[in-house]
Amino acid sequence: MTTLEYPKIAAGKVRELYAVDDEHLLLVTSDRISAYDVIFTTPIPDKGRVLTAMSVFWFSQLSDVLPNHLVSYDDERIPAEVRGRALLVRRLAMLPLEAVARGYLTGTGLADYRARGTVCGVELPPGLTESSRLPEPIFTPATKADHGSHDENIDFSDVVGQLGKKRAEEVREATLAVYRRGAELAAERGLLLADTKLEFGVDRDGNLVLADEVLTPDSSRYWPASGYPAGRPRPSFDKQPLRDWLTGPFSGWHRLERPEPPPLPDEIVAATRARYIDAYERVTGCSLEDWPA
Ligand code: ATP
Ligand code: MG
Repeated sequence: MTTLEYPKIAAGKVRELYAVDDEHLLLVTSDRISAYDVIFTTPIPDKGRVLTAMSVFWFSQLSDVLPNHLVSYDDERIPAEVRGRALLVRRLAMLPLEAVARGYLTGTGLADYRARGTVCGVELPPGLTESSRLPEPIFTPATKADHGSHDENIDFSDVVGQLGKKRAEEVREATLAVYRRGAELAAERGLLLADTKLEFGVDRDGNLVLADEVLTPDSSRYWPASGYPAGRPRPSFDKQPLRDWLTGPFSGWHRLERPEPPPLPDEIVAATRARYIDAYERVTGCSLEDWPA
């Protein structure tokens, strides 16, 4: 059996979604990689397996915090060609937002703070800088933009307008609870969880369910815990070699003048693959060799 037997219902930058039956979907994670909104044509071998295995690890770690969409990662409904990088999941009505929690200030959070002293309407103390630890983790939702456009940070009041007060509060509490658990476990492994982006759906009974990918290097910023003072950007764990090469002198890429993705050199592919596998093994304490392929 192949994925071709299932109707494809969506294709994102990294994942494809197939309908298995009325209640189940197959969420297939490719080996594609993107950086600075460039989706490269050269795959990173095993990246799909890493993201899938890591999500499964976290679904299990978080199962006492809230329900999730995972049904199976290894069963006869999963075609052999995508084994190890596909999940059979419950089909949910997805909430139209990116649920982000931040424990440290960087990226668009830092940009918003510099512009107005707040992030998504949350007041922060003065004097924070790049990579500063926040007094406490904050919920910073964003729109789920269509492909080609950017997600935009929104205020909690916008989420209340969209989902109603009760559901909005539930999403905020769930997001922060997932962040706290993630940060706690990451810290035990010598890593800081700077921030993470979650997606939630609602099941037939109206329950809030954690969906998509969870606490992967693509949805979260993991930083090495030691050796980097606030005030400087910290290297993100996974895509740094790729970003450095892309913006360096040898890639031939230019954000405006030559935005098409260049083919990736073997050493950049190898370095990036090693980073993903290292992130998996550090966070989970497991070897990728033990994961289905
Ligand atoms: P991005 O590249 O920014 O992550 P994306 O989230 O739209 O974009 P993918 O992550 O590649 O794209 O694709 C996954 C898609 O599957 C998303 O649209 C996500 O909302 C959807 N999805 C994930 N889990 C479920 C589920 N259990 N039920 C229904 N849809 C789901
Ligand atoms: Mg996604």
